[in-house]
Amino acid sequence: MTLACALRRAGISFTVFERADALRWVGAGIVVQMNAAVALRRIGLCDAVAAAGASPSDSAILHPSGAPITRLPVQRLQQELGAPLVCLHRARLQSVLLEHAGPEHVRLGRAVTGFQDDGHRVTVTLSDGSTTTGDVLVGADGLRSAVRSGLLGDAPLRYSGYTSWRGIAPEVPSVRPGLVSETWGRGARFGVVPIGSGQVYWFATLNAPPGGQDGPGGARARLQALFAGWHAPIADLLAATPEDAIVRTDIHDRPPVTRWSRGRVTLLGDAAHPMTPNLGQGGCQAIEDAVVLSECLASGDAVEAALTTYEQRRRERANQIVSQSWRLGRMAQLESPIGRFLRDTLFRLMPESLAARGVRDLVRSVS
Ligand SMILES: Cc1cc2nc3c(=O)[nH]c(=O)nc-3n(C[C@H](O)[C@H](O)[C@H](O)COP(=O)(O)OP(=O)(O)OC[C@H]3O[C@@H](n4cnc5c(N)ncnc54)[C@H](O)[C@@H]3O)c2cc1C
Repeated sequence: MTLACALRRAGISFTVFERADALRWVGAGIVVQMNAAVALRRIGLCDAVAAAGASPSDSAILHPSGAPITRLPVQRLQQELGAPLVCLHRARLQSVLLEHAGPEHVRLGRAVTGFQDDGHRVTVTLSDGSTTTGDVLVGADGLRSAVRSGLLGDAPLRYSGYTSWRGIAPEVPSVRPGLVSETWGRGARFGVVPIGSGQVYWFATLNAPPGGQDGPGGARARLQALFAGWHAPIADLLAATPEDAIVRTDIHDRPPVTRWSRGRVTLLGDAAHPMTPNLGQGGCQAIEDAVVLSECLASGDAVEAALTTYEQRRRERANQIVSQSWRLGRMAQLESPIGRFLRDTLFRLMPESLAARGVRDLVRSVS
């Protein structure tokens, strides 16, 4: 959707084919980090996205008792870097992007099932049996991308070793306004993210084999048992979340690859570089891809050259974040008491300035 907005702004005609037959109000929350906000500003969308969510003043990693392990002064960094960090409902982000992309350019209920590139045009086959042609095909079709399979072949996903749950709850009184937190326990984490409009997005992770089920008591009862005794507002948020609003997702990524494009076909976002959510960067990197790709396509270069430049500008950064996110997940999901003690001590001793430098570097190096 970000690419659609950017192409429209650049005056390049496009059509979005979306497998889903309706855009529903689904999918919990998302954090649009400052680096993605910088990219959105280049296509005139930063303010509209910021207005749709909430910007925190602080973020913290906490112990299950509630004691801080690390803190990051997010408000100060936002002021210094001149870019907001926006926490919002995914559906709200989607509707802002859809409005700017132009809903008339989106064809719902059409899955891409195959494509052929004859060197001059790309012909795409859709799930209703029809075909359509264009100058470029961008596979922005997520973790299990059909376009990626056609381009790079089928390779299995890499399972992280942990599963996740996400939900949206009304803002209960025990939530600390302006604080985004992630609490690290034994092979389990719980995150709390105020998203404005009186709502709080929360997420939880747990080491588990893939494909697990929550059992007859349901997800909420399981999470209430898992996180019993953890600090406020965790129990209150779980109690306030309807069972049918909880989404469970096993966490996968793919090891980084060295090519995303061939001829007139390329990949973007999770289709190109799916990553674990530990740095909250999957959607942000998709946004950066979209802005850079639109600039390359608008440059006047031949299509193949434009796609090569896009890959050169984006690949190393996105792939590095895939690897960093994977490593952080291994650490955050540790179970052994000694490992957790060492980890928490290391993070506690880490100067605030070091964590802030990581954010600064990420924001200032947006391509
Ligand atoms: C628990 C969790 C928390 C996360 N938190 C954050 C966060 O805070 N910040 C952040 O930046 N990222 C976060 N992410 C990552 C983020 O959700 C993804 O990286 C992001 O959604 C990728 O966007 P995308 O457009 O590439 O793919 P998707 O969002 O997966 O979108 C792909 C679209 O393509 C459609 N589609 C699929 N196949 C086809 C087909 N064959 N034909 C047509 N359409 C098709 C799908 O229906 C879908 O609409 C999180 C992920 C998880 C699992």
